[in-house]
Order: sequence, then C-alpha cells, then structure tokens
Amino acid sequence: MRLHILSFSSAVFAAALVAATALPACAQQSSGMKPEDTEVWKPVPKIVTPGATDSAPPSDAVVLFDGSNEDAWVSAEDHTPAQWNVHDGIFTVNKKGGNIETRQRFEDYQLHLEFRIPSDITGSGQARGNSGLFLASTGPGDDGYELQILDSYKNTTYVNGQAASIYKQSPPLVNPARKPGEWQTYDVVWTAPRFNADGSLQSPAYVTAFFNGVLVQNHFQLTGQTLYIGKPFYKAYDRAPIKLQAHGDASEPISFRNIWVRPLD
Ligand code: MG
Repeated sequence: MRLHILSFSSAVFAAALVAATALPACAQQSSGMKPEDTEVWKPVPKIVTPGATDSAPPSDAVVLFDGSNEDAWVSAEDHTPAQWNVHDGIFTVNKKGGNIETRQRFEDYQLHLEFRIPSDITGSGQARGNSGLFLASTGPGDDGYELQILDSYKNTTYVNGQAASIYKQSPPLVNPARKPGEWQTYDVVWTAPRFNADGSLQSPAYVTAFFNGVLVQNHFQLTGQTLYIGKPFYKAYDRAPIKLQAHGDASEPISFRNIWVRPLD
C-alpha cells in the first residue's frame, strides 16, 4: 500500500515537471511579477447612486420622462412642444401629434424605457401596437435607427420587424414579449456611428438591447439607417435626438413611462 502511494506521488511529481517545462510563453514572462504589478488604481470610477429599483433612474441619468410632463420632448416635424397625452404618470401616443423627439442630442448612451400595449389592442402584423424607439433621429427626411416597438405576443409578422428587432436589419434573439396590458421594458446600449470629415463611415453603430430583462440584441453591428424599402446605408450625422414613433396604424395608441438615458461620452 505504501509503495503504491509512493509510486503515485512520483507520478504526480513527474507530471508536474512536464507541466512546468511546458508553461506557455506568457506564463513564463509573468513569473517574475508580483500581484501588485497588474493592479490598476486610477482613474477611480465615479460613484453613481443606483435607483431604488433597477428600473429607476440612477443619479447620473438624464430623465426624459418621469410621468409629470413632456418638457424634454418636441415634435419631430417642427420642433414645437410635444403634444402627446400626459396622464396618470404615463404618456400615450397622440397619432395626430406625430413623432416626438428629445430636445437634447446624444451620442453613445445607456437607455431605459417602459411601454404598454393597450389590453384591448386590435389589428394584426405591423398594424398592432406599432411604435418605435429611434436610437438616433437623423431627420428631417430620415427616420434614423429604429428599435421596433410592436405587440409581438402571439402576433405574427416578419421577424426583422417584430418587437425588439432593429427594423429590417436584425430579428431579436428571442421573443420575451408580455401580453397586451402589461408594462414591458427596453434597456439599450447604443454606440453611435462615427463619420469622417468627408461624410464617409469611420465606424459603424452597435446596439445591445434587453427586452423585459432578456438579451435580444447582442452588440449587433448596424448596416445603416432604418429604411422601410431598400437596403440600409449610412448617412453622416453628428449628435442626434432620441425619437418615439406615432405610427399611423389604426390600432389603439400605446403608452410609455419611466424613460431615462445615461450619456456615455
Ligand atoms: Mg415602428
């Protein structure tokens, strides 16, 4: 028995020797280093106080809608004050009021938004609770980059046009849509495209998005602006507002609440 243990120990020792001589180059280079050599102490990340819940705006957020007024928003058509219906701590799309966009312009950001499809929603396909979160509103004349809002609970349409798709570019990875009448969340990380002085593309846009807490877009690289017809392409712009769509479908208008953004630049 003792002999067996000895021979086992010898085998382990031999294996360790082989392993030591087969160390990869990077491990050999680190051999003279101390733990402190790879510690980074500065710059210290600034302190941000989280909201009382994970959906409440943290201390460094720009609140775009807190339920009290729509002062942060203007008509996307003529930049007059927004005319959506603020009531009960939410606002509801006014289809006659048209699309609205933020007064403030943004580049890269983290965004939180909540929306509710009416419980009595009618229509089907693209004509059922259609709206949209335009991550950059690049008008006039262009829509920008749309993360689709739609009732996608048991409502069939083309998959790159269902809720949480990058419209006509990227279907969501999964469909975590809730029933009409229930509040739903989008959490988005947007990396804006960059353009050279001559208007050519320097780096594309990327989006990561969570729908009701579930990953639906994973660092997706956009191929250009959202187009209803035709292939997307990039068109130079600088900083841009964020836009919400008043879609012209005949279904009942949807509502929003608790919208905030954290600029990352
Ligand atoms: Mg839409």
